[in-house]
Amino acid sequence: MPSIAALPTHPAPSSEARLAFSELLLGCDDARACAEAAVSWLVHHAQVEQVLCLAPDESDSLVPLASYGMPGVESVVLALHETKHPLVEALQWSEPRWIAPSQLSPELSPLRRGLFSLSLGRAAPGIPPPGLLLVTPASSELSPDVGWLAGHLGSHLTRLYKGRQLTRLEAASSELAARVNAATEELATQNELLRRQAIQLEQASAAKSQFLANMSHELRTPLNAILGYTNMLLQGVNGELPPPQRRSLSRIDSNGRHLLEIINEILDITRIEAGRMPLHLSEFRLPELLQEVTAELDPIIARSKLAVSTQVEPNLPLVHSDRQKVKQIVVNLLSNALKFTHEGSIQVKARYEVATAAFHISVVDTGIGIDPSHQERIWEDFQQVDNSPTRAYGGTGLGLSICRRLAAMLDGRVSLESAVGQGSTFTLHLPRLPRRS
Ligand code: ADP
Repeated sequence: MPSIAALPTHPAPSSEARLAFSELLLGCDDARACAEAAVSWLVHHAQVEQVLCLAPDESDSLVPLASYGMPGVESVVLALHETKHPLVEALQWSEPRWIAPSQLSPELSPLRRGLFSLSLGRAAPGIPPPGLLLVTPASSELSPDVGWLAGHLGSHLTRLYKGRQLTRLEAASSELAARVNAATEELATQNELLRRQAIQLEQASAAKSQFLANMSHELRTPLNAILGYTNMLLQGVNGELPPPQRRSLSRIDSNGRHLLEIINEILDITRIEAGRMPLHLSEFRLPELLQEVTAELDPIIARSKLAVSTQVEPNLPLVHSDRQKVKQIVVNLLSNALKFTHEGSIQVKARYEVATAAFHISVVDTGIGIDPSHQERIWEDFQQVDNSPTRAYGGTGLGLSICRRLAAMLDGRVSLESAVGQGSTFTLHLPRLPRRS
């Protein structure tokens, strides 16, 4: 960029001087340097005594960029929001205007005479124009070169400001892009972490199921031996036993059976969870199955002194399902009904609904009932209405959760209707044909 000193110092033909100034601006991308060049040009070619070039800065104030013949104006600062200030107002004027000495603001007191104020250009609403030129001409006339320079400098400064804005915008945009990239990377890292944790959890859960299955199996074998030997002793294989020993052995037998039930339930849950409970589908009749269920629980029914009856709709179609699992569910529901009913009756009902092609097998009791606040919870593993150590009823709290899982395997479900003190109805809803058949 040619320096200001390089400009011709003697008045030159206007066109040559303008060309030289235009060339100088072309190579100048610093607003202050451009303003200094403009002031110098005006002093050398436009017969001016005093010049001040002002422009808006980053903090929205009008500040001097360059001056000539005005000592002390370097500290002028005019806030752009003071729109009533004559110099802030002057930014919007389209033509040069003369400001008499009496109208001059105190900031410009070093001026000997009045001055012309020229806006360096117009701007979009809300955006300040590129700047202001204050000129005191040597004569009373304002050289047309001043107007030309103001227009020329104004468009150059506008270009510079736009470029600067673009650079800032680009910087902000690349910063934003960098932040988005960083956030995306972080998200990917977190996703990967989650994926690994999910795999670890899956492995831990499979290991837990495997451990429980192995343990249950290992416990069952000696327990069956204990039960077998207890039975042999009770049957008198080693000779008749005195009554007190028989009583003790009977207790060992009943407690052993209870323990076996618990182990079997845990084994069932772990098998279902591990997906190692195979389905054995077959066609069978419900009346026979329900008969088997009541026969299996006959000793408990007899002890309970409850009226237990079975009501099966005539001409029920054949069921296509896993017979053993259906039986296990009904046994479980009936055992619970027997456990939680002290007087009254228990009915086992079965009907077929043609519209939905589903069987509904209900166990209706007149027992203690279940409060609505517990009706959701009891389907979860190990959940009982009374979980206290002093609870009146035995059990593990696994029976219903096994029923729920088995029913789901058969594409069915178990529902409950109950009122405290009035009884409960548990119903197994079973499709005539499971989806996978
Ligand atoms: P468990 O019978 O071993 O406690 P279940 O999972 O079979 O476990 O049942 C969970 C709980 O649901 C029982 O502890 C009991 O509180 C309640 N419950 C189940 N069946 C009945 C019923 N027929 N009447 C009243 N409460 C019941």
